[in-house]
Amino acid sequence: MINSVGMNSNYVQYCKPVFTSQAQNHIAVNNVQSDTPKETTNLIMQYLENQARNNVSSPYNVSTPIWTHAFGNCDNMKVTDAQGNVVQNVEFKKDGDKLTEEIFVKCVNGSTVNKTIVNDGNKKSMTLIFKNKNGEITGQENRTYEKLDDNTAISVHNGKTYKISGLSGDVITVEHDGQKKVIDLGKKIQPTLDTIENKPTNKQISLEQKEFLLNSVKKLSGDLILKFDEEIDQMVILDTDEYEGFYRNDNGIRKLKLSQKVKDDMTFCHELGHAINRIDSEGDSENKVRISDNKNYIKTREIEMNNFRNRCKNDDIIKPMNKFIYDDFIQKGYMSYEEGQKDGQDEEFAEMTGFINCMDVDWINNRVACMLQFMPESTQMVYKKNQELF
Ligand SMILES: [Zn+2]
Repeated sequence: MINSVGMNSNYVQYCKPVFTSQAQNHIAVNNVQSDTPKETTNLIMQYLENQARNNVSSPYNVSTPIWTHAFGNCDNMKVTDAQGNVVQNVEFKKDGDKLTEEIFVKCVNGSTVNKTIVNDGNKKSMTLIFKNKNGEITGQENRTYEKLDDNTAISVHNGKTYKISGLSGDVITVEHDGQKKVIDLGKKIQPTLDTIENKPTNKQISLEQKEFLLNSVKKLSGDLILKFDEEIDQMVILDTDEYEGFYRNDNGIRKLKLSQKVKDDMTFCHELGHAINRIDSEGDSENKVRISDNKNYIKTREIEMNNFRNRCKNDDIIKPMNKFIYDDFIQKGYMSYEEGQKDGQDEEFAEMTGFINCMDVDWINNRVACMLQFMPESTQMVYKKNQELF
């Protein structure tokens, strides 16, 4: 197992040495034939030294993701550690109309994440369980959403029930705990499209695009709709398919912008996460104040990122992690590491908020599983914050 996993991505250019069972004790032994050319032997020795330095037992020494097709645009994904243990697993199942997505991550600190989403016609459900390294549950999220008819849906989040009505029109009502909230979604739609640079265009929104934005909200559970109403003034269609979404506070107008190609609720919840993260009452558009500016969160991330930088050598894992660690801050156009980090903190906050709340069965970006595996402490801080907010 070890030879295929430990070497696949990092050392593919080297000749593969043969390992004996001693490798389980982290001692790699090669059974190289005596007639092996000297150069190859040197390369093997170099490889073994590298392996010893990197410590093959490290949870950071993981394979390149292996993708296998499930259905539609959904691919199963598996990542293993050097011992062949599965550390990231995403699996889709289809049984008639019933679609299931199971996500499992074993984090570098030994804790685990299990999420199961089931979409069955008019019914959706989600269970998310966090466990510590001893197998004890440290956090659990349950959500369901059921469409009763064209006009009405019921959603439940951790035992709290929300009735959503008016789904066949532009004005919806969310009822919870004897309170009624009427939300005019039509009024929250910007009549023109914006460019990828978040500039206005003269292009008018089409009926189909308007319908798409309305449905992006209507399919969310009641607590998320209420949060959306609190945090977002306008929804905007992007005049591009290149990016999936943005959150922008344009001179006090809080905008959630989406590309029409976005089908699942993950992008929507991610952008809503950016909106939640921004503390509107503090700072201006140049000096944004965010929940993610918290010193403990910054410090925790720094430790996790340094461990990752020092121990993970697999480029196929490092690349998606740049969404959060911003080592490519210069290419991203930032003047300094610190400036880039502010947005890296924000991206992790948004992604974790999206992960905790989304309940559509759809393709998953590898970066989510990587973030969960390598940033377990800081993602838990975002989760704890979410528990206060929802
Ligand atoms: Zn983002």
